[in-house]
Amino acid sequence: MIVVGAGPAGATAARTLASGGIRVRLIDRSAFPRNKPCGGGISLRVLRRFPYLDRELPRIATHVISRLHLEGPAGESTVISAGRPAALMIRRVEFDALLVSLAVAAGADLISGADVVHAREDADRVTLTTRDGRRFHAPIVVAADGVHSIVARRLGLNPGWPASAVALDMMEESPRAVLRDVDPSTLWVAYGYDHQGRQADRLLHGEKPAGRPLGPGGIACPRRGTPEGYAYVFPKRDHVNIGIGYVLSHYRQAVDQAPYDVQRAFVARLRERNIVVGESTRKNFTPFIIPVGGPLREPGRGRVLVAGDAGGFVNAFTAEGIYYAMVSGDLAARAILTCRPDASPGLARRYGRSCDDEIGVELRDSVRIQQYLFADRRRIARIIGGANRERALIQLILEFVVGRRSYRGLRRRMLARSPLLACRVAWERLVKKNIVGLGASV
Ligand SMILES: Cc1cc2nc3c(=O)[nH]c(=O)nc-3n(C[C@H](O)[C@H](O)[C@H](O)COP(=O)(O)OP(=O)(O)OC[C@H]3O[C@@H](n4cnc5c(N)ncnc54)[C@H](O)[C@@H]3O)c2cc1C
Repeated sequence: MIVVGAGPAGATAARTLASGGIRVRLIDRSAFPRNKPCGGGISLRVLRRFPYLDRELPRIATHVISRLHLEGPAGESTVISAGRPAALMIRRVEFDALLVSLAVAAGADLISGADVVHAREDADRVTLTTRDGRRFHAPIVVAADGVHSIVARRLGLNPGWPASAVALDMMEESPRAVLRDVDPSTLWVAYGYDHQGRQADRLLHGEKPAGRPLGPGGIACPRRGTPEGYAYVFPKRDHVNIGIGYVLSHYRQAVDQAPYDVQRAFVARLRERNIVVGESTRKNFTPFIIPVGGPLREPGRGRVLVAGDAGGFVNAFTAEGIYYAMVSGDLAARAILTCRPDASPGLARRYGRSCDDEIGVELRDSVRIQQYLFADRRRIARIIGGANRERALIQLILEFVVGRRSYRGLRRRMLARSPLLACRVAWERLVKKNIVGLGASV
């Protein structure tokens, strides 16, 4: 077997395959350790899902967080305290090298410096060609080659993401000696963030966090809509990651500044508000794309399974992708282990079904939540206000974040608490069924 891409999705797939006794080649265009632009925040449920990480993580710098400062578009804010560790903070340059070393220790054959530029699927095998002309053949391929997946494109599994289905995340990762957050025990997150920082100005000048936020650049913000973006400060043990992201279509339409200018101005505002100390540094800045439109309808076909960002396995609401990359990589490997020795016709179906069972509902819901919140800024304010009042609900969500409650369990409890929300979900399902039914009969 071949796994293309040795990020969290590919390295996890390769480890599971090798542990199951399969000969697997893990190929990547980079040599490890390599960097990947990323905030490096992972909900702690990753340790429940991948318990072997517990004994390996001490090999790298980690930091755990138990508090979240959440801010809305009009400057409303709340602090949610979990009372116990809820998020694991890592640096990708270290974490990914660790995952690769685990795959190699399990028996995977790592081939770095292999940049795949072509892929072809025949009746009995898949052929991959690298930029330097090497050819690799395998009966089954896991495409874990990230958001720009060449394998998924070349084989027609994904023609490319529309600008409304990806976020441009502008981020820098700096050593704490250069730039640091003032409170390293807290994740700072702003939702519906205005790149011109008008909520920050209002806070600085003591205005009440209410009323109508301005649209970004003074334009294009619908009456009730909110800038389709977020901003964050993620503390690490020896570094800090600071970033600001927008749905790409929104960025193109409404943000009239170059990515680094947006970032530098954002850091300056954080400094004015005494959230960070220090300077933004251009060389630590690496803008990159995240798929936020939900997973591909068909994450595999024939002899090829698509995992991680390549398949769109990212939470559209939180932009968390590492966990889902690892889960989808693991599920791809397990589907192969079940269907071996050949790519049986049911392989892709089995993989799609297992993804759907484990993470499908939460990823679909995350897209709905993101669209719902961006459509009306008052909704974000209501959620932030609700977080202050609804302590029981917050506890339910935290149990999910640390892996003590399944998403389905959380969803059931939330729908039971809100009959209005339950009606809305039932209505959407009905409408969707009718549309699908209609499509099928045409
Ligand atoms: C700025 C930013 C901040 C983020 N913050 C967070 C966060 O805080 N928490 C979180 O959970 N998620 C975050 N994400 C999302 C997260 O980074 C991704 O979801 C995650 O990296 C997906 O893992 P992956 O293994 O699918 O792909 P990747 O990590 O992108 O790995 C893909 C691998 O494939 C290799 N590759 C690509 N093309 C080829 C080719 N043609 N041939 C050979 N090899 C190839 C690459 O070298 C790479 O090693 C963030 C994303 C961005 C951009």
